[in-house]
Amino acid sequence: MPKIVLLPGDGVGPEILEEATRVLNAVAQKYGRTFEYQSCPIGGIAIDEYGDPLPEVTLQAFESADAILLAAVGGPKWDKETAARRPETGLLRMRKALGAYANIRPVAVNQSLVDSSTLRPEVLEGADMVIVRELTGGLYFGDKGRKQTGTPEEQAFDTLIYSRSEIERIVRVAFDLAKGRRRKVTSVDKANVLESSRLWREVVEQVAADYPEIQYEHALVDSCAMQLIRNPRQYDVVVTENMFGDILSDEAAMLTGSIGMLPSASLGNRVALYEPIHGSAPDIAGKGIANPSGIILSVAMMLRHSFGYEAEAAAVESAVGKVIEQGYRTADICRPQDKRVSTSEFGSRVVEALRA
Ligand code: NAD
Repeated sequence: MPKIVLLPGDGVGPEILEEATRVLNAVAQKYGRTFEYQSCPIGGIAIDEYGDPLPEVTLQAFESADAILLAAVGGPKWDKETAARRPETGLLRMRKALGAYANIRPVAVNQSLVDSSTLRPEVLEGADMVIVRELTGGLYFGDKGRKQTGTPEEQAFDTLIYSRSEIERIVRVAFDLAKGRRRKVTSVDKANVLESSRLWREVVEQVAADYPEIQYEHALVDSCAMQLIRNPRQYDVVVTENMFGDILSDEAAMLTGSIGMLPSASLGNRVALYEPIHGSAPDIAGKGIANPSGIILSVAMMLRHSFGYEAEAAAVESAVGKVIEQGYRTADICRPQDKRVSTSEFGSRVVEALRA
């Protein structure tokens, strides 16, 4: 029986996670599966309760987990805390503890949502890519600090370091993924300026030699940011380092109309972590209007990648698609002609579509 650790976190987290577990229960019922759940604290709520954004009780639960499903963490209440007591620090520590170095973010434009995006339909139609972001290295994890504090010359620094092996393993994830897709990899860097990017390019060239069937190209991050909204159809698998991936994947999310739509998987040496790409959305927390699609589609990724339940995963994806096609939409993607529904009503519709 697969054991899933549930991390509701902060803001809209508990509201959307509730819908994700209802969908999981519906899958269990329909396909005769059993899931064991353990809910654990992380983020702001864990700081309040344990004085630590990633408490021992949660780390211990990971030991026996088959998959982890995270909703979101963070909020203004903890914005003034020191780094060690910030919700986001819990996330970074969790990714490191899990060795989750590969963040996989599929971005496919749902035909019935093309006019929810700020981009023109003819630009969006057919866009279907996966962004592979390195997750445990680079600027977010390198040495950082301050010097000459309190003087007018005070300095702050962050360090961007990548090793060959760190680059190679993430680039291989991208090339392997491309095999099952349109067989094209775009590697994104800033090799005209950054030494770490020049090493990145060297490693990409070496890895590419092992995949003669895959077409690949290098792109500079600034140009890629522009091309993503100019002609997103050109991309299949995009692989990049941590910070570039952070920024580009949020930009790509807007192709789909709402950040609330997109799932992700973070894979590595140990148990995999699944989460929607958005944050805790404090501006709409508690209102029951958050879009639970991102976390429900993360459940589909979990069913497929961690448990090998392909039919179940496809059924969840198709159920979300059907509900949207039928015009049931949460506020973030709702047009005047649609039927506006709450977070829990959307979840109920997905469960209904699954059972049908
Ligand atoms: P956010 O993703 O929480 O919100 C950005 C905008 O998108 C907001 O207007 C929000 O209402 C909207 N939005 C997000 N998710 C939505 C959903 N499911 N349905 C409808 N609308 C949705 O990003 P932010 O405002 O920059 O950050 C808020 C907090 O979340 C911060 O504390 C930040 O550090 C944290 N954060 C956490 C994660 C994570 O847990 N993985 C990721 C990003 C940000």
